[in-house]
Amino acid sequence: MASVAENWQDIEQQIQRACEKSSRKPNDINVIAVTKYVNTERMIEALEAGIEHIGENKVQDALPKWETLGDKGIWHFIGHLQSNKVKDVIGRFHYIHSLDRHSLAKEIEKRASAKGITVSCFVQVNVSGEQTKQGIAFSEAKNFVEDLRIYSHIKVVGLMTMAPYEAEPESVRPVFSKLKQLQEELRQHHWSHAPLTELSMGMSNDFQVAIEEGATFVRLGTSLVGNDEK
Ligand SMILES: *Cc1c(COP(=O)(O)O)cnc(C)c1O
Repeated sequence: MASVAENWQDIEQQIQRACEKSSRKPNDINVIAVTKYVNTERMIEALEAGIEHIGENKVQDALPKWETLGDKGIWHFIGHLQSNKVKDVIGRFHYIHSLDRHSLAKEIEKRASAKGITVSCFVQVNVSGEQTKQGIAFSEAKNFVEDLRIYSHIKVVGLMTMAPYEAEPESVRPVFSKLKQLQEELRQHHWSHAPLTELSMGMSNDFQVAIEEGATFVRLGTSLVGNDEK
């Protein structure tokens, strides 16, 4: 397996190219190392390679890793979040990427206000409409984001989506451009609870296309830190 530093060099070049194609600045792209398939040693390698964002998608797997490395890096919870697990996430993870329902928002609010902190959240949108995908329906996203203003300890920093897996990443470009359009539409409202400056989209298979369409956070597992389960 290649070192994280080697993978990182390749990815930085790919980001550079995607930015050149779309007149964007590489500095505006944040890379999250998705470490759900790898152990803490590999996570340390990522941190030492200079990657500061860590992404995990299961609370029970993330907690032991957090116990070891929680004081390092910026932690992103990227998976489906059950309400009964919110108490373990608040105060540990700096960002939640999967806010997609009121029951979850309510629980985040409760736990965040008890700790006196504000939690930065992405609203996850099911742009493609696939049944298997989490996220609020595209048509309901505007009302949902607006209604989140009642939760004073939640800050909606952006929108997140997962594109369907396609062998040809070009074919998911419309998913990313639709999320970008929605972001621009919602930002016109200047809601103080929802600055919506960020777009979390793009994974190993499709991040170049996501960057060309406006991603500010890409979530890279396999291509960056590898996958011990494969
Ligand atoms: C696993 C996962 C990723 C990373 O997937 P790769 O294809 O390995 O890069 C990104 N986002 C979410 C939500 C994930 O669950």
